[in-house]
Amino acid sequence: MKAIVVKPGTPGVALSDKKKPESDGKSVTLSPKLVGICGTDREIISAYYGQAPAGETFLTIGHESLCTVVDPGNSGLKAGQAVVPTVRRSCGVCWSCLHDQSDMCFTGNYTERGIKGRDGYNSELVVEGPEYIAPVPAGIGDFAVLTEPMTIGEKAITQSLNLQKRVEWGWDCDDGLSCKRALVLGTGPVGLLAALIAKLRGFRVWAADRHDGSTLRASLLKSAGVTHVNTQTSQLKDIADSEGRFDLVVEATGDAVVGLDLIPQLGPNGIMALTGIPGGSQVYQMPAVDIMRSIVLKNLIVVGIVNANISYFRDALADMVEIEKRFPGVLGRMVTNRFSPDDYSAAFSEKGHDTVKVTIDWTK
Ligand SMILES: [Zn+2]
Ligand SMILES: [Zn+2]
Repeated sequence: MKAIVVKPGTPGVALSDKKKPESDGKSVTLSPKLVGICGTDREIISAYYGQAPAGETFLTIGHESLCTVVDPGNSGLKAGQAVVPTVRRSCGVCWSCLHDQSDMCFTGNYTERGIKGRDGYNSELVVEGPEYIAPVPAGIGDFAVLTEPMTIGEKAITQSLNLQKRVEWGWDCDDGLSCKRALVLGTGPVGLLAALIAKLRGFRVWAADRHDGSTLRASLLKSAGVTHVNTQTSQLKDIADSEGRFDLVVEATGDAVVGLDLIPQLGPNGIMALTGIPGGSQVYQMPAVDIMRSIVLKNLIVVGIVNANISYFRDALADMVEIEKRFPGVLGRMVTNRFSPDDYSAAFSEKGHDTVKVTIDWTK
């Protein structure tokens, strides 16, 4: 069968022929329909990381997928049903992994489909254990391919709200508790989806990037009632001064300075959830005293968010139903590009001005 593969350690990507995976009787056979491409895939292609399955030379890439059930086995799923499988697999020994939270693995010996030690979804067929498969609810179209990037915002906001059980945000508003303030840094798919989740959770939401209001991203945010901020022309500090300090900041740029510099703009008892992973090893100057003083004097929490377990996949799919009701069409407009597997090379280099989510369409 066809598969898009890399040879970890060597830059490059290729369409190759792979042996069909075999079900072990307990697993479900799936055919990937759409597979999303993100920065992680581009980094794997550039050989910054990526690990082939044990004993193999090549890794099939792709971790963001929407699949169709081909053979449900004994799972209770139905042939033809749309599903989204998760990415990370248990290390098999730690408390988190043994309690369905491989995203919180203690040992680091987990595997990840399409990234670390396990083939991904860019192939004609895959097999997967039913415990790692989330069914797509009715009314959700091909934009279910956004589920995996959406799980990052789900985890960031759910964990922040859990941490915030210590006090209630938004008490200082005229209309009671309805104006807690969230800021999302970055308007890539993770940032856009996090902004939509924050809207559903009742926040007033700002989302910042370095572009003016003419982009597709700004238009998507506007359709969902999120205020777009162009940081080339507006200061986030000024917004915090005039509208009130932010209760929650979700950092989704991966820029080490952008996130940490903003810590002093958090309000009392605020939380910053960091989701981006900066590259390189550059050393920056930071206002360390101001940052640490803010964290202590305002009871701030800075929390790191990586990966997501199946519960966040189910939450993301349930939230998609709600978003589609409240902001119809917004999610569909985020899937901007579809390339056939034969066009993989163009797909991985696509970086148009109004590109949001590029996908490989395995039905083409
Ligand atoms: Zn990704
Ligand atoms: Zn573990």
